[in-house]
Amino acid sequence: MRQPLVAGNWKMNGSTASARALLADIKAGVAAVAKCEVAVCPPFIYLPLAQAELTNTAIAWGAQNLSTEAVGAFTGEISAAMLLDCGCSYVIVGHSERRTLYGEDDQRVATKFAVALAAGLKPILCVGETLEEREQGITEAVIARQLDAVIAAQGASALAAGVIAYEPVWAIGTGKTATPEQAQQVHAFIRGRVAAQDASVAEGLRILYGGSMKPGNAAELMAQPDIDGGLIGGAALVASDFLGICRAAHDSV
Ligand code: PEP
Repeated sequence: MRQPLVAGNWKMNGSTASARALLADIKAGVAAVAKCEVAVCPPFIYLPLAQAELTNTAIAWGAQNLSTEAVGAFTGEISAAMLLDCGCSYVIVGHSERRTLYGEDDQRVATKFAVALAAGLKPILCVGETLEEREQGITEAVIARQLDAVIAAQGASALAAGVIAYEPVWAIGTGKTATPEQAQQVHAFIRGRVAAQDASVAEGLRILYGGSMKPGNAAELMAQPDIDGGLIGGAALVASDFLGICRAAHDSV
C-alpha cells in the first residue's frame, strides 16, 4: 500500500506574513488528514520560516528547484546542501514552468534529479505533455522520453527514493483538469514503463497527479488505482482548499 502524498507548490507567491499564516492554518488541520503525507514547497526565501514553523510537525517541506552545482560562482543559484541546511526533504525537479520558461531540457532535469538524490533529498520529478502533443497523439512518447532520461542516467532503482508527478501542461493553472480516466491511463503507463525495468520499484512508486486539482475533483482522481496523491499549485495557496485535497487523499486510503 502506497501512502498518498499531497505536496503544495506555492510557486512565486506570498510574503512572510501570508506564508506564516498559511503554514499555521495547514498545521492546524493536518491531524485530520493523517493517512496522507503532507508537504509544502514555498519559495526559497520562506524555507527557513517553514523550518521554524514545521519542525516536529507531521508536515514536510521542500524547494521548487535546485542548482546542478555544489558551490561557487553561480549567481542566483541555490545548492542541494543549502536546501538540506533549511531542513528540506523534497525538491521539485523538471516542473513544466522550469522546462518551458527556463529552458531546462530532459538532460538537465535528469542531472538535477541525480544531484538531489545524491544529497539525500527526495526529488519530485514532473513529467507531462502539452496540449499540442496530446492532440498529436504523442502523450506517451513525450512522457517516456522525459522518464527515460532519468532512468538512463540513474537506473530505475533511483526512482525508489523519489516521486513522480504527472502534470499535463494544458491542465496547469488553467482550470482544466484531466479526467480521472485520462490521468489514470498516463499513470498506468508510467508505472508500466518503470515496471519493465524494476517491478518492485514500480509497485512502491508514488505517482502524483498535478493540474488544477481542487477539493471538488480530488476524490475521483485519488480513487484511481495508480494515482497516489497530488502536486497542487493554485489550491495550495488557500489552506482550506489544500486541506480539502489532503482530506480526499486521506479518505482514499
Ligand atoms: C503546478 O504548478 O504544479 C500545478 C499543478 O498547478 P495548478 O494546481 O494551479 O494547476
